[in-house]
Amino acid sequence: MQSLKLSWCLTKAARLTARAYGREFGVFSPTKQGSVKSLLSAGAALCRGNFQSARHRHHVAIVGSGPAGYYTAQKLLKGHSEVVVDIYEKLPVPFGLVRFGVAPDHPEVKNVINTFTTTAHNERCNFFGNVELGKDVSLQDLREAYTAVVLCYGAAEDRQLGIPGEDLPNVLSARSFVGWYNGLPQDAQLAVNLQCEAAVVLGHGNVALDVARILLTPTKLLEKTDISEQALETLRGSRVQRVYIVGRRGPLQVAFTIKELREMTQLPDTRTVINPSDVDGLDKCIQDLPRPRRRLTDLMYKSAVSPGDKHVAAWKEASREWHLVFQRSPLQVLQDGDGQVKGIELAVNRLEVDSSGNPRAIATDAKEIIDCGLVLRSIGYRGLPLGHDVPFNATKGVIENENSRIKNEKGDFSVLCAMRFNRR
Ligand SMILES: Cc1cc2nc3c(=O)[nH]c(=O)nc-3n(C[C@H](O)[C@H](O)[C@H](O)COP(=O)(O)OP(=O)(O)OC[C@H]3O[C@@H](n4cnc5c(N)ncnc54)[C@H](O)[C@@H]3O)c2cc1C
Repeated sequence: MQSLKLSWCLTKAARLTARAYGREFGVFSPTKQGSVKSLLSAGAALCRGNFQSARHRHHVAIVGSGPAGYYTAQKLLKGHSEVVVDIYEKLPVPFGLVRFGVAPDHPEVKNVINTFTTTAHNERCNFFGNVELGKDVSLQDLREAYTAVVLCYGAAEDRQLGIPGEDLPNVLSARSFVGWYNGLPQDAQLAVNLQCEAAVVLGHGNVALDVARILLTPTKLLEKTDISEQALETLRGSRVQRVYIVGRRGPLQVAFTIKELREMTQLPDTRTVINPSDVDGLDKCIQDLPRPRRRLTDLMYKSAVSPGDKHVAAWKEASREWHLVFQRSPLQVLQDGDGQVKGIELAVNRLEVDSSGNPRAIATDAKEIIDCGLVLRSIGYRGLPLGHDVPFNATKGVIENENSRIKNEKGDFSVLCAMRFNRR
């Protein structure tokens, strides 16, 4: 372990992290410690576990520097004065999806970075960028060197639709689309074609509403955000007039939150279209719902059935519109003679309560088609495998674990961790 750890500390983590982020994150700053050389020996000492002195008896490795990683570090450092935390991150920069996932018109969501930076400045917290678990180091290596290993490496892979036409151009992952408008290098070259009048977004979560909002927001407003120049230019030439946000279940099962829904209903020059029959009867059960769900459902109901005068006037004049579509599952993406997306075929679902009381979408024989030239899928994410020594369930896209603990053959544990970065 020592030589391996030493070599990657010297090469990747130390050099790159030192140069790029040393100043920001303190402990391994070349300016503080004089030179990259001293930084390397500090890294080496750390790798040999020399930090496990009497004062620092527990040395914890955290893999991943998103919200789960930094909240875990914060909790450990606050609650245990003897703990030292090393955060390993495959990218050169910390903060995971807080940096790359937040919509550019929601800059306040990124304020949580201030909290994470405070944690990063703690003298018992070290950050190693450009170190990938499964490639540069194995879980076994970390287990041997640390008291505990916490895996906070996010869910980096999109769930696929698994339907014909999914591979057509302009059938895109919403996550890549977000990366594209946020200037994430790996998504900068995403081929986004907005020369169509209608787009379909599959999924009823906040990411679905984020991408729909960006598609419909006047570019004059987006200019004031830190959206990527390239995306802004493409959006300026957009012909998209209608966005359909399609979910397989009903209004009581949506996963987006009221803030995002309210923003959609208030988009300039954009009409909200919710079929009143989809919310039929909801008024009778709204009062019994827990408060956040009650407010959300109430807004959906009123938007469909009795929008206020202000909305009625604004929506009448609007040149664009978005539709909230329920109980539909994608069957196939349709193409024209040139291999371009021309629509999506959907199954009409009914809801059936399963044995655990959850409403499940069951496809009926009824089908319908929405004409569109762009499909964005936002139906959830999966974890990726971390190398041969980490048991992985490829079907579910999760690491095999018992109550979030991963056992090895010796009975040692690592811990899996996931969380959101704000309450929405
Ligand atoms: C497009 C999008 C937008 C979102 N917007 C919001 C929002 O506005 N508000 C909100 O509360 N939630 C939002 N979410 C949800 C939120 O991003 C996640 O719930 C949260 O980021 C999960 O935190 P995490 O630390 O588990 O994962 P991540 O934020 O994904 O962080 C995981 C980190 O681990 C690193 N990593 C991965 N594999 C390895 C490896 N093998 N070795 C080392 N490092 C590795 C990654 O580079 C990354 O930095 C959004 C999600 C998406 C997909």
